[in-house]
Formats: sequence, structure tokens, C-alpha cells
Amino acid sequence: MLIDFHTHINKYSDSDIFSVRSYSVSETIDLKTKHYSVGWHPWHLLDLDKETAFDILEKQVQCDEAIMVGECGLDKIVDIPFDLQKEVFEYQIKLSEKYSKPLVLHCVRSFSELIEMKKHFKPKQQWVVHGFSNNINIAQMLVKEGIMLSFGKNVLTENSNAQKILSQIGDMPFFLETDDTDLHIKDIYGKVSEITNYGFEELSDKITKSLEHIIHQKISHL
Ligand SMILES: [Zn+2]
Repeated sequence: MLIDFHTHINKYSDSDIFSVRSYSVSETIDLKTKHYSVGWHPWHLLDLDKETAFDILEKQVQCDEAIMVGECGLDKIVDIPFDLQKEVFEYQIKLSEKYSKPLVLHCVRSFSELIEMKKHFKPKQQWVVHGFSNNINIAQMLVKEGIMLSFGKNVLTENSNAQKILSQIGDMPFFLETDDTDLHIKDIYGKVSEITNYGFEELSDKITKSLEHIIHQKISHL
């Protein structure tokens, strides 16, 4: 079983891929989607009225198929008021805690704010920064706070931050994803198996166990 931790595309027909389709609150959820995460991305905060979005989100998060909350988070590059971003993010932290589902994070140049919020809310649910491509110092800073990382297309680029971090990851848990690309997750697993000391099967077991651990369920039961 290969886990695609975060994808915006319905692209797998293989039964040995477990993909978590990431929906935005403004998207219609395809009823055939077996497992998804749903959140309000900081880029799209002006697309919907706040109360309406909060209402929809809470209903969607309660569904059994919603195994995680997000992606959500903070982004200092996008032209959306940062106070609004924080407010919407806080709401999603609370949803994640209320419904006991982990949080998938989008974070751009806001890692200290992210850590401040984690210290403030002391969440019980796991937080995972998706598409991590920053340097090893930021990686270490996040891991120290108990935040996990998910790596995507960056692992295919020679000498990228993701490759450097994975080459010294040891037994630390992490996830792999394809996000908005049309890559197949097996290519990411293949590359990561080369970079790390994990054989392909071993890597796949490790990641499956990590996901089961954070969603508090066996993948085979879903
Ligand atoms: Zn994404």
C-alpha cells in the first residue's frame, strides 16, 4: 500500500494506492471520494463569506470520509490580510481538535507564527506541514515542536532541500505526496527509497504505520 498523503487530483485507479484527496471548502466533494481532507486554504479566503465557509467546513469535517482537516495555514506572500488568515486558521485548529482529526498545513514564510500558535493551542492532534521544501534548520525547528513533514515533487530535484533532509532523516516519521502535480506517488517513493536507507517495502510500511498512528485508525478498516 502506498499513501499519497496530499493530492488535489482524483487520479488513481490502482487499489494499492491510498490517497487523501484535499478539498477546498468551496469545492464540491465527489461522493465517490473515499478519504479526503477538507480545509480553507489561505489563498482563497476572499472567495467565500466567513460564516458560510465555517458552517460548510464544520459539516464536511464531521463526515467519516474526512480523515484530516486542511490544507489550511498561513502565507506571508499572498495578498490576503494576515489577521484574517490567523482567524481562519484558528477556527480550523479548533475543528481539528473537536473532531479529533489531524491538521494538514500550508505554511509560507510564517513558521515562527505557526509555532507560536501551536504553543498557544497545545493541540492533541498531529500537525503536518505539507509540500515541505524549506531548509534543514526550519525542518529541525518544526520537528522539535512535534510537527511532522510531508515531502512532494521537491524530492525529485537533485540537491533540493527535501533531498538533503531525507538523506539524514534517520527513523523520524514523515509523509510523501503529489499535491497538485500529475506525478504518480510510486515515483516519489522510488526516489525517497534511493535517498534514504529504506527499501521500497520498508518505506511503504513505515509511512502506512505513521498515517494509521495519526488518524487513529487502521487503513484496512477504511
Ligand atoms: Zn495542496
